[in-house]
Formats: sequence, structure tokens, C-alpha cells
Amino acid sequence: MNTTLHDPTQRRGSSGSATLPPPGGSIVWLAQPASALVFTDLDGTLLDDSYDLDAAARAMDDLLRSRVMTIAVSSKTLREMRGLDALRERPAPFIFENGAGIAWPDSMIDDEIGERIHHHVGDHGIELNGPPYAALCNTLARLRARQRYDFHGFNDMDTDEVMALTGLDQPGAENARDRMCSEPLLWRGSDEDLESFRNDLAEMQLTLIAGGRFLHVLPATDKADAMASVTQAYEQLSGQRVPVLACGDSENDLAMLKQADACLTFPQQDGSYLDTGDTANLQVPAAGAEPWRIALQKLLSDLVPCNTSHTSPIEERPANE
Ligand SMILES: [Mg+2]
Repeated sequence: MNTTLHDPTQRRGSSGSATLPPPGGSIVWLAQPASALVFTDLDGTLLDDSYDLDAAARAMDDLLRSRVMTIAVSSKTLREMRGLDALRERPAPFIFENGAGIAWPDSMIDDEIGERIHHHVGDHGIELNGPPYAALCNTLARLRARQRYDFHGFNDMDTDEVMALTGLDQPGAENARDRMCSEPLLWRGSDEDLESFRNDLAEMQLTLIAGGRFLHVLPATDKADAMASVTQAYEQLSGQRVPVLACGDSENDLAMLKQADACLTFPQQDGSYLDTGDTANLQVPAAGAEPWRIALQKLLSDLVPCNTSHTSPIEERPANE
């Protein structure tokens, strides 16, 4: 059974290292700009079945010491991902619900990003790239009534049913049901109806993607679009193009992996690896923070050898406020 993610309301990690400057100020915390950006999927990539969130947060924070910024990208909800972010040394941007939403640290929000912020939660401003969840569920309900589609979404389920389907405990299932702009569903109809459903969604600027257990209805966007948006923000802040790496294991990661300069792929459930086409791809033998860290160090040393070989303590570089 999966364990519950960290309580999002808990204070940011106090276990952190003495080498990090206090949180706050611009996202360009360092006197020098980021040497690379890493966008990483969570389940089956940075997280293995042990679901060790502390190790995941530590692995991401360790890269910061080499000026490599890591951005988590997942089908998980905002509430689920805030739990992981709270374990990091400082708030970072993260991408939730398969790219339908982006959480920006308040310190990173300039006028341009600010225009896209829907609301604030904790120390993040929330950008939604589609209709709010209630409107999305209303749209799906009308479509189902009109076309007699046979599906069963999270909005139709209670917490017990989500627990039974996902293996999550009660708080975990409640976090997974706390959705903002995408709907996981079980399809019970025919393949022909599914194709018709997909076409109807496309006419409403919605899309359907396959996750591990559910189909997900979301705005016509994906992890790659959200990655491009966050990359653009970093590059505007740092004034230069930086190498972009992506890590993932499943079909919903593929566009993100192909759009990166180089990528890590992790084994899918059947043990096979995604074909990332022309994108340089290092296949990692197993998911989890340690294999992730080792493989990223190797990829980074090939990509940005000057910037990842040293580990200058970043407390010597004042925050750029
Ligand atoms: Mg995955």
C-alpha cells in the first residue's frame, strides 16, 4: 500500500543543511545562474515502491549545490505534491496534474507570471491551464448524459472507492481527490465510444491521456508545455539558455522527454523503456532516488562538465533579492 504523502501544512524542512542560505529572495538564489534544469516525473522515476519522499527531496536538493534546479512533474494533485515540496530546503516550482497546473514559488512570480496566477496556496502562486475542476466535471457530466458514455470518474467516487482502486490510505486518497483541473476516470464503454469521446473532448480543447490505471481528462496541454513555460521563466531570470534534462518512465512523460536536450528513462511496468527518438537517452536500471541521482550525475557530467564537477558551497553566494 502506498503511504500518505507528507502533510503539506508542515513547516519546511529543518533537517536541512547548514550550507544553504535562508529561503527567500529571487529564484536566482545564486550569484551565478543555474547550470541546468532537471524536470522529473515522480512515480516509477524518482520514487520507487518504497515511496521515500525524504530521499527524493534530498536528492533534488543535493543537485542545487551544483546549481542544477530540479522541478518535479507529475500526474499527482497540487496537495499531494505540496507534501514533497515541503520537504525541500526551499520552495521550488512544480508541475501537477500532468501539466494542467504549475505551482510557482512566490519569489519567482514576476509581472508576466503574475498575470497567469489563479490563486495562492502557501508559498506558491497557482497557474491553471484550463477550466477549474468543478466546471470540468460539469462538462463531463453533460457529455455523458448527451452521448451515453460509460465512464466512472473520481468525481463519481467516494474516498473509500479511491482507496480501493489506488491502494492509497485515507489521507492519501483524500489528497488525490482534491483536484484542480483534471479528472481521472475508468472507461467502461466500447473502443468506438472511446474514440468518439476523445473527439468530443478535442472540440472542447480537452485531451485524454493514459496513466497507469486511469484515463485522465485534462486541458489540451501536457508535461512538455509546462516544462517549456518553467524553462522560459528560468532563462529570462538568468539571461541565458541552460541545458534541460528530463526524467520519466511512462507514455505521459514522452513529449517532455523528447523536448529535453537529454533524458533519463526508467523501466515501465513491463520492463521496457520508452523510445525517445533523437533525444540522447540514458536508460536507468531501476526507479528510486539513488539510481536517479547516480544516473543524473553521469548525464550532467557529460552535458555540463564544468558546472557539475565542483560543489562550491552556495552559502557564499548571496541571494539575489
Ligand atoms: Mg511515472
